[in-house]
Amino acid sequence: MVQSSLGGNMAVRAAEFILLMVTTLLVLQSMSPAQNNGDGRSIRAIGAVGNRDLGCTRGLGSRYSLKAQLDTGRSHAQAMEATSKLITDPVITEYVNGIAQTLARNSDAKVRFTVKIIDSDQVNAFSLPGGFIFVDSGLILAADDEAELAAVISHEIAHVAACHGVQEMAGEEQTSSASMPLIFRLAARHVTMHAVDLPPAGSFESEADFLAVEYLYKAGYDPQALPSFFEKVNTIQREKPGSQALVSESPRQIAYRIERTQREINTLRPPASEYKLDTSDFQEIKVRLSEVEKRAQSAVGSPNPDQQSAARTLPDGSKGK
Ligand SMILES: [Zn+2]
Repeated sequence: MVQSSLGGNMAVRAAEFILLMVTTLLVLQSMSPAQNNGDGRSIRAIGAVGNRDLGCTRGLGSRYSLKAQLDTGRSHAQAMEATSKLITDPVITEYVNGIAQTLARNSDAKVRFTVKIIDSDQVNAFSLPGGFIFVDSGLILAADDEAELAAVISHEIAHVAACHGVQEMAGEEQTSSASMPLIFRLAARHVTMHAVDLPPAGSFESEADFLAVEYLYKAGYDPQALPSFFEKVNTIQREKPGSQALVSESPRQIAYRIERTQREINTLRPPASEYKLDTSDFQEIKVRLSEVEKRAQSAVGSPNPDQQSAARTLPDGSKGK
C-alpha cells in the first residue's frame, strides 16, 4: 500500500516535472530571438528586410498590439524625460532624428522613431517599445564619425523592430519574474552589453547587433562602424577604468561582439563600392553639442550634484544607467 502510494506520488511528481519542463521549454522557445519565420524570411534574408516578422506578431511578442507597445513606450518615455536633462537644441535633435529615420526606412520596424538626447557624459543609449530612443550626449561626442553614431542607433532600432522589449515584458508576466521596472531593465540592456557573462548566441543583444549590421548596410552606412564603436568602448574602458557607463563591459565581452559582427560583415554581398562613413554635418554637430553643454553648465554654475543624480532617478526611485 505504502509502496503503491509512493509509486503514485512519484508518478504525479514525474508528470508535474515533465509539465514544468515542457512549459519552461515553450516559454524559452517563445522568448528566443527570431532566427527563422518558417517562411524563409529569416533574419539572414537581408533582401527581405522590411517584410519580415522578427517576433512582433507571434509568440510572446504578439501579446502586445502595436498600440499597446506605443502606449507603454510613450508613458515610460515621458517618465524618463520628466526626470532627465535633455538637449533640446533643434539643429542637434533634428540631425540625430534624421539619422534614425534613414535607418528606420531600411529596417523591419513598423513604428515611427523619436530620438531624445540626454545631457550626460555617459556612453550609453537605449530604446523603449514603440520607437522611443534615448542617446546620451557623451555617446555622440565619443563617436568618431556619423557611421558610428548610426551604428548605435541602428542597434536600438533593431531592439524595437524585433519587439525585444515587449517579449521581455510578456515573458516576465508569464513567469512572474519581473524584478525591476521595465524602463530600468531596458536602460540596463543598452548598446554596451550588460550581461554578467557572454550572451548565448541567440540572445536579444546578439540579434540586435546582427540586425544593426543589416540596417547599416541597407542604409548605405559602413557596417564596420559597429565593431569600430565596440573597439572605442574598449579603449574608453581602458582609459577610464571604472567608468560608470561602461563598468559592466569586460574586454572579453567586447571582443566577443566584435568577432561576431565582423563575421557577419564578411558575409554581406554584394559589398558596397562606397559606404557613407562621415559627414561634415556630424563634426559640426559635435562642436555645437560641446558648446551647448558648456553654455548650459556655465548658466547654472558648477553642476549641482543633486540635479546630476536626479537626472537618472526613475519614477520608482531607482537609478537608471
Ligand atoms: Zn542592446
